Amino acid sequence: MKKSVWIFLLIVLLPAVVLGWLALRSADEQRFILERRTTELFQTEADAVAASVREAMTIERQSFGEAVRRLLADRPDAEKLARDFSNTLPEVWQRKAVGFAIGPDGKILAPSPATAATNKRAAKFLWENGAFLCSTQAAVVYPVAGKTGSVQRNMKSDASQSLTKAKAPEFYASQSKTIEAPTTTEGNQDATLRLVRPQELDGEAQWSALMPATAEFAVLTKDEDEGMVARFVQDKLDLIFWLRPPEARTFIFGCLVESADLRDLWPALLADHATTGEPARIVALLDDKARPIATTPAGATGLDWKSPFVASEIGELIPHWEAAIYLARPTALADSARGLHRTFAFLVAGAVALIALGGWLVAADVRRQLALAQQKTDFVSNVSHELKTPLTSIRMFAELMHDRPQPLEKQNQYLRIITVESERLTRLINNVLDFAKLGRNQRHFEKMHLDLHELITRVWESHEMHLRDAGFTTEWTAAPAPYPILGDEDALAQILVNLLSNAEKYSTERKDIQLHTWLEAGSIKVSILDRGTGVPTSDARKIFEAFYRAHDSLSSGIQGSGLGLTLARQIAQAHGGELTYEPREGGGSRFTLSIPIYTA
Ligand code: ADP
Repeated sequence: MKKSVWIFLLIVLLPAVVLGWLALRSADEQRFILERRTTELFQTEADAVAASVREAMTIERQSFGEAVRRLLADRPDAEKLARDFSNTLPEVWQRKAVGFAIGPDGKILAPSPATAATNKRAAKFLWENGAFLCSTQAAVVYPVAGKTGSVQRNMKSDASQSLTKAKAPEFYASQSKTIEAPTTTEGNQDATLRLVRPQELDGEAQWSALMPATAEFAVLTKDEDEGMVARFVQDKLDLIFWLRPPEARTFIFGCLVESADLRDLWPALLADHATTGEPARIVALLDDKARPIATTPAGATGLDWKSPFVASEIGELIPHWEAAIYLARPTALADSARGLHRTFAFLVAGAVALIALGGWLVAADVRRQLALAQQKTDFVSNVSHELKTPLTSIRMFAELMHDRPQPLEKQNQYLRIITVESERLTRLINNVLDFAKLGRNQRHFEKMHLDLHELITRVWESHEMHLRDAGFTTEWTAAPAPYPILGDEDALAQILVNLLSNAEKYSTERKDIQLHTWLEAGSIKVSILDRGTGVPTSDARKIFEAFYRAHDSLSSGIQGSGLGLTLARQIAQAHGGELTYEPREGGGSRFTLSIPIYTA
């Protein structure tokens, strides 16, 4: 049995636990992959939003370039056009902007001082950008070159001669309160921390990919035909579109658009990313202070704008602006992951528990089968012994009488012994046969109207004499007859004989057998009481099981087959009654048979 337990543990339970653990781990991995996918999906979307913002900016710049070309086509005198450019630009280009032009000598032709005198915006423009545009002062800028839109890197080294030591612009002065300028990052001394900190951020991504250059306008425009320069002035983002038209390559026409004046572009752009139904995520375009410029669904509020789920920098076209995605229910991912993990853990634990339970049930059944097999083996040896003992007596007394003539008294004694022993033999054989019949449901009871009192009298009288001879005191306390029942006479007699013979068999020193019969709750009760060994409490139920013996022959020396009580109870139940055991007060056993009274 112990070996089977080990086999079960090693071959069934252990692999089940290991498989369960692997299943849990793979579920966790799946969850991780799912999370990664979601992150990637949202990151792709943020990138797409950022790309469409860049595209919108490029279209704006191109539309400015077309406007300039249209003007040049109408007015081929480039210089004249340049001088009046600030006033002429609004005629062909609708966007609110300050147009400017730079002549071949690098001097600003427009807005002219006359225009600046009457136009506040132009005056402010000259004040803030004049020195930079006519290249007397370098500035920190984010340049994007020409038609390709590529970012102009390493401006500092290219333009080293013309660079003056730039003052830190306003933008950085104010940002330094919230962003610590990095001291060292790999290979990039200019890197700054992003103000927006996506949750799904790896170490690298916390640094802005933007690389500002400190340069003069002339250096930025030297080798290109058109481009864009972004710059922070007084904490506001200015976007400068410029063009060196092929018709007049020595002139630069440009315009300055404040980022705030592009507001009309974004809502329509973000609307393309709207979803139907309950939105799972909120898409937002954030400015350089991480304030939402536009959102989809429109008007989203109450989010921690600086901590989106994922975000993507727009780039040098609008520096420090970001396309960000927020989860509508930030805990949804973690909740579903936890739910999935819990369900899996529950399923695995359930499966392992079921396997363990199954194993335990199989083991219990095997144990029962083994016990039954053992009992059957005992039964065979018991029955053989039981058969041998009476046969030996019968044979011995028959031979005694045969060998020598005996006195009459002895002869009668021998004959009585032979009769009792052959009755015992018959009973044993009947028990075995009956048990086999009952097992195959072949035993049929011939029930008829009976007076149980009469039947008990017959059995009791035939036993009483024998019991008295064996030294027993006997007494029958009876309720008055009749005890009408419907039953099989032989079968009921068999119960009584079995109980009386057990009472005799299991009695030791105190030899006292009592018979009580009374009527109670529609039944006739027959109790047989002895002062024998009694049944150990733990065996009280089992003695009614086939082959079970509380006192085995070896230790008690009392012969038996373990079938008598099994048969007796089955017969009682077949009559609608019951047979029970209880310990007798003062020691011994009390078996009570109850059979329903027959009422016509
Ligand atoms: P057996 O042939 O072994 O007597 P039974 O089915 O008649 O078989 O009884 C089953 C077991 O019940 C016995 O082995 C014995 O241990 C216990 N038993 C039955 N009757 C008595 C009794 N009167 N006193 C003590 N034990 C009894």
